Amino acid sequence: MKNEEKCPYCGANQFVEGKQEGYATVSPISKTLTFKSQKLYHKICLECGAVVKSYVKNPKKIV
Ligand SMILES: [Zn+2]
Repeated sequence: MKNEEKCPYCGANQFVEGKQEGYATVSPISKTLTFKSQKLYHKICLECGAVVKSYVKNPKKIV
């Protein structure tokens, strides 16, 4: 199995990861408390700058 990911837009296979903190954290929609909020990470194509994937490190903590 090939583990190499490619950008769906330009086909490049080099990425950089960025993260959003503070106001951009992801919190449970159904709750008003924000202590469970997660940093949002972005996987960004180094070639064209497309955000290929946005994710949190511990999705189960949001639930
Ligand atoms: Zn790209």
